[in-house]
Amino acid sequence: MKSELKLLRNKIRVCTSCTLCETRNKAVIGSGDLAPKLLVLGEAPGASEDKEGIPFVGRAGEMLVKMLNVLSLNRDQVYITNTIKCRPPDNRLPTPYEISCCRPFLQEEINLIKPKAILAVGLTATKVLLSDEKAKLKDVRGLIKQSVLQIPFMATYHPAAILRSPALKEPAVEDLLVLNDYL
Ligand code: URA
Repeated sequence: MKSELKLLRNKIRVCTSCTLCETRNKAVIGSGDLAPKLLVLGEAPGASEDKEGIPFVGRAGEMLVKMLNVLSLNRDQVYITNTIKCRPPDNRLPTPYEISCCRPFLQEEINLIKPKAILAVGLTATKVLLSDEKAKLKDVRGLIKQSVLQIPFMATYHPAAILRSPALKEPAVEDLLVLNDYL
């Protein structure tokens, strides 16, 4: 692994910038291919991720893998990370303050990984990539947009939302086909 990435992982592991460090079991650091075409940006670790220290290992992770299969990719061929690296208690939404504490880590991951594009799954990741607290998923999903982190991205539904509302699967596949053409 690139030594800068090792250093970054060590910084994340011991980070105490916000109070989530008091309740986390493990900080969840990005994982996957370190020189991929695509970086997947989720919201925040859940219970399974907090236990294992790996992003998207629970049920949402299984759905994410199905979404990646639409792009003819598997999880080892992309880099997967989250807007924040520690689990919010009771899986509540990350606060803007928590997101701002973790943002330098995300920027550094992106600088080191240098993906061609980012897939933002869900509204939290979309807001972060647009730096717009008022962004709406319906206005941007399925479109290739420029992110404030200087890498083009496309937003679609979060895999957990698709699990809750299976009718979202079809529009998500349509979005992914747009990204597929871009990649
Ligand atoms: N949901 C996310 O947004 N990220 C994870 O790592 C797991 C579930």
